[in-house]
Amino acid sequence: MGSQYGSDHAGFGCAACCAEDALVAQAHHQSHNGVRVERMIQDDSHFIVSVQRCGLCSQAFASVFTEYVDWVASQDAQYRTVLPITDAEADDLMAGRLSPHRVGALGHGRRHLQSDWPSEADKPSVYWDSGVFEVREGY
Ligand SMILES: [Zn+2]
Repeated sequence: MGSQYGSDHAGFGCAACCAEDALVAQAHHQSHNGVRVERMIQDDSHFIVSVQRCGLCSQAFASVFTEYVDWVASQDAQYRTVLPITDAEADDLMAGRLSPHRVGALGHGRRHLQSDWPSEADKPSVYWDSGVFEVREGY
């Protein structure tokens, strides 16, 4: 452990948790032996942030889940961003030295697994995105 990753996203994760195919990666993240929650950082009903770790390669991830209650449609909009982070960043997040709202800034030069499920869609779209992203609390 203690290895330092560069800003190149190719240095993060393994063929399972950072699979080129976003749907393959998501399947691994959602499997019981895939990526597990290491620490809950924030656990509100509409804003859930956790540090997770791949069971195969020990790559740490910051997972940000946001839900927006749709008072008109019956289905709420859900968005999830899973960003690979270094062990040092995971430690900072778990120790409270790094605010969950600052996680988006870590996205610079990295890929993140994005799952968008707007209330009008019947299934989520899953894809790799890259760069800084906005962390917003849902409602
Ligand atoms: Zn992995």
